[in-house]
Amino acid sequence: MIKETTVAIVGAGPAGLYFANLCEKSKIDYLLIDASNEVGGQITHLYPEKEIVDIPGIKSIISKDYISKLINGVDESKIYLNTKVEKIENNTIFAGDFTAKAKYIILAVGLGFSSPRPLGVEHENECSNILYHLKKFDFLKDKKVAIFGGGDSALDWSKEISKISNNVHLIHRRTEFRGNPETIKDCKNLSIHLPYVPYSIEYKNGKATSVTIKEVLPEGEPEHLEKIDVDYILVNYGNVAANCDFGFEKQGLFVKVDENCRVKDNIFAVGDICDYDNKKRRIAPSIAECDKVFKLIQS
Ligand SMILES: Cc1cc2nc3c(=O)[nH]c(=O)nc-3n(C[C@H](O)[C@H](O)[C@H](O)COP(=O)(O)OP(=O)(O)OC[C@H]3O[C@@H](n4cnc5c(N)ncnc54)[C@H](O)[C@@H]3O)c2cc1C
Repeated sequence: MIKETTVAIVGAGPAGLYFANLCEKSKIDYLLIDASNEVGGQITHLYPEKEIVDIPGIKSIISKDYISKLINGVDESKIYLNTKVEKIENNTIFAGDFTAKAKYIILAVGLGFSSPRPLGVEHENECSNILYHLKKFDFLKDKKVAIFGGGDSALDWSKEISKISNNVHLIHRRTEFRGNPETIKDCKNLSIHLPYVPYSIEYKNGKATSVTIKEVLPEGEPEHLEKIDVDYILVNYGNVAANCDFGFEKQGLFVKVDENCRVKDNIFAVGDICDYDNKKRRIAPSIAECDKVFKLIQS
């Protein structure tokens, strides 16, 4: 059976959920489809307990509470979970047995089906204390933690974890962070190692006990290694996106959109999946994109 609707939203992360809220408020018929078994996208899967402080109109909120707030504004009977969209053709989306025809299609598939990029050292797969995402972080209280990465996730986690442990190391391969350095400006318990890359780990009984890092130096200079004892290693090298190629024009891993977030015809992309000059992969810009597209489809 083919479902017919006005708006089919593919992806129920913060962007898709926000778009569904707009449809619900304006009584526009919609479907919200997600491949996963729960809504919330990266927030639910990667950082449900983290505080978010940069959503317009909300001073501070725990991420999972933000998702609950968004779910409250959606008719749950319109949500289709475990439904992975594989093909989009004209105005029809195909997800296994599920087919839907919509006047407008909103692609909000974020980073898609992603798997974390590894640290890249030998024996990494044998260590259960090398983590690639955190749902809760209270178990890191007073633990020795090495955090790898230079983007916002690494900086956000460095800030949060250094509040509950005084043995936190942040290691990044460049001299400058890709994320906002203001985040860690006032962190007292954080040792920062720049520019260093992971070199090796020592491990015992399926757990890394230390990580050795190597300074990035000009060619010819003698090697400089440092060993850091660890209880946990947190890797924030981002995700390798997969399975979200619907055949639209891409910019790297992302879908190219025009100034109205249009991909083509009545297909739009909002949130992390879309790409334009200076695109920031945060929640605030995705809200602005949804508002813009919603206004357009209503006019
Ligand atoms: C650790 C961390 C901390 C962050 N902290 C902040 C912060 O403090 N403030 C902030 O503004 N931003 C933060 N971000 C960024 C923010 O989480 C993202 O910008 C946001 O999640 C993007 O939302 P989205 O809905 O576009 O995509 P996603 O959250 O990636 O959701 C996409 C959804 O689409 C679904 N999907 C994918 N492919 C398909 C398919 N083929 N069919 C059906 N469904 C599919 C997925 O299952 C997923 O549910 C953080 C990110 C990380 C990793």
